[in-house]
Amino acid sequence: MIRSRLTLALAAVGALALASCGSEPDAGEVNLYTARHYDSDLRLYEMFTEATGIRINRIEGNPDQLIARMTAEGANSPADVFVAADAGALWRAQEAGLFQPVQSEVLNERIPANLRAPDGSWYGFSRRARVVAYDTADVQPDEVDTYEELASPRFRGRLCVRSSDSVYNLSLVGALIEAWGVDKTRDWVRGIVANMARPPEGGDRDQIRAVAAGVCDVALTNSYYFIRMASGDDEGDRQVTSTVRLAFPSLDGQGSHVNVSGGGVAANAPNRDNAVRLLEFLASAEAQTLVSQHNNEYPASPEVPAPAPVDAYADFEAHPMPVSAYGLNQAAAQTLMTEAGWR
Ligand code: FE
Repeated sequence: MIRSRLTLALAAVGALALASCGSEPDAGEVNLYTARHYDSDLRLYEMFTEATGIRINRIEGNPDQLIARMTAEGANSPADVFVAADAGALWRAQEAGLFQPVQSEVLNERIPANLRAPDGSWYGFSRRARVVAYDTADVQPDEVDTYEELASPRFRGRLCVRSSDSVYNLSLVGALIEAWGVDKTRDWVRGIVANMARPPEGGDRDQIRAVAAGVCDVALTNSYYFIRMASGDDEGDRQVTSTVRLAFPSLDGQGSHVNVSGGGVAANAPNRDNAVRLLEFLASAEAQTLVSQHNNEYPASPEVPAPAPVDAYADFEAHPMPVSAYGLNQAAAQTLMTEAGWR
């Protein structure tokens, strides 16, 4: 029994060896450490391997776990690419010395300057707006067209939002600090805490569901969660979003707060060339479209049109702030939120 299994295994190795002796040389592999948590990404990785022959070995975790792991692995880290769904997390990895800057004309051409690290340490490949889901029966659109209004007394006890350890909230508050300074942002954070309908619990989808259930009238959420619920196959989710609408508040009249999901080449990447090829693939119109279609994020490049169903939510102004600012203000944001009791 054991012998026949071994024979089979050897036969398989032989077949692989023969395959790699053919006209196509072995394109090698790339080790991807990713904090993206969306199943739809698997199709993206298959597409890359189909196009290049490069195999992707994937390690998943939350950003802090992956950053700790890469730090512990040090110069021996097998990581080639680190990907995270938040500009603040990318900045943390950069601060930990885990990236090497990449100069790529392809990347610089495809990704707008405000959506990447100035030195090429990381690039944003998709965008997400952090916006407002509101109950159409109780809230008028003009009550939620700025971020300031969310913190106003009008919404006492009427707001749902997830906890302050969400990187999405940290980056939003980081952006507000960049726009307003610390003092005005402190007032805003206090107003948000005063307006909470309940202590923070759950993820963004839970906040949207809470609006539909009447627990609150307004909620902060990333755009793609709402779009997915409104356009997906789940009948319950579609029901939930039938009485809830998405508003795109403006920050100082310059547009909604936008974050990125992106990645960069690891400092000690053993497969550096393949790592750059993966980044360039993720920046391609094809990949940006696929991510938008399947995870309902917005393409990073203004030249890539948002496909359905995202196109119905794509007509909003995005604030032009460099997303690298969020990380710079992260510590200050955390302090304000903790002091205000945003748990
Ligand atoms: Fe997410």
